[in-house]
Amino acid sequence: MKRVAILGSTGSIGQNTLEVLALHPDRFEVFALGAKQRDDLLLEQCLRFQPRYAMLSDAAAAARLRAALQACGSSTEVMQGDAAHTQLAAAAETDIVMAAIVGAAGLASSLAAAHAGKRVLLANKESLVVAGDLFMQAMRQGGGELIPIDSEHSAILQSLPDDRAHWADTVRDMTLTASGGPFRQLDPAALHDITPDQACAHPNWSMGRKISVDSATMMNKALEVIEAHHLFGMPAEKIRVLIHPQSIVHSMVGYRDGSVVAQLGAPDMRTPIAYGLAYPQRMASGASWLDLARIGRLDFEQPDPQRFPGLGLAYAALSMPVGACAVLNAANEQAVSAFLQGRIRFTEIYRVNAETLQDVDVGRVHGLDDLFDLDARARARAQFHIDALVA
Ligand code: NAD
Ligand code: MG
Repeated sequence: MKRVAILGSTGSIGQNTLEVLALHPDRFEVFALGAKQRDDLLLEQCLRFQPRYAMLSDAAAAARLRAALQACGSSTEVMQGDAAHTQLAAAAETDIVMAAIVGAAGLASSLAAAHAGKRVLLANKESLVVAGDLFMQAMRQGGGELIPIDSEHSAILQSLPDDRAHWADTVRDMTLTASGGPFRQLDPAALHDITPDQACAHPNWSMGRKISVDSATMMNKALEVIEAHHLFGMPAEKIRVLIHPQSIVHSMVGYRDGSVVAQLGAPDMRTPIAYGLAYPQRMASGASWLDLARIGRLDFEQPDPQRFPGLGLAYAALSMPVGACAVLNAANEQAVSAFLQGRIRFTEIYRVNAETLQDVDVGRVHGLDDLFDLDARARARAQFHIDALVA
């Protein structure tokens, strides 16, 4: 029996993880569930999966959950505050941590799991974007296993040889596929008037609002280029992006001999989640079978840099001093949030990101405190650009 802690259990990845775990009660035990504030949904999850601990960042929501669980006679213990996530990620009883909090807010807990030598199922790509070197170092020192949950990176892991020692000599490049989001073919002039609900209506995937906006701008793919760079130790110039609107080929690895190995599947996050949980074995995920005859064709095209200028920011940030990726991530989180609140336009997300990346002096990044300081400075600078657009 492996004990699993899910950080971000009320989100899209968190809920999908519970669906996969529900298929395998003989192999996994839900040890801890955590989220920010949705006590109603967390209550349902606690009653169904009976974790030892439940945690909420928000104090009032945690108090409501505690009272509701007591009223139901549940033995789940409720913890409150961000420190609870970090504590349970590193707890001796935890075997596997699903890091599925959205944004840089997930860094402290995923890093704690890395230091503690856990199997870390990393959905929170922002951890690697903000603190790639530190995070990879923490994984090495902790001695645990890092398994990406992002479908592209799971596909790459599945397409690589088991022996890491051979990656550098044999791999020629990696290609991340991208659906192109909901606006792949929209008249670029119309991008100006896109609403948050339009941006969140992804053609192939149902996801949280932040990553849905990132998919529409292709900033998601920018973050994924940085993620792949750290996960697989690949230089940026060997990481390519290809638009593939059907989201069936999840990514591919090109080899020196001309072979290209890819992983295919229906667009369903339960597949990479099950792969991460069962690794190196395979187990049922509940995802539907891929029916290529019904799909009929698979299309590919180069991303248009005019339509998706955000993608270039990943390569720019990777060529800058360490810390630039943290600046880009912070700017993007602020800009997406301002867009979702109706404060700035869809096309202004790129402007805020590009200007903040250019403005903020990264300085020297020695450790986590420097990164948190940089993150705060970048957010303040992004906010300055947002306020200027709103004024
Ligand atoms: P979501 O918005 O649906 O859920 C986010 C979860 O994080 C919620 O449970 C929320 O309560 C929790 N959370 C947010 N802020 C928190 C905080 N400060 N402290 C504690 N908990 C907090 O997001 P999602 O779509 O599930 O995405 C989660 C992560 O997985 C993101 O990093 C995203 O990029 C990545 N990811 C998601 C998908 C997908 O299909 N949804 C695919 C690949 C990668
Ligand atoms: Mg992805």
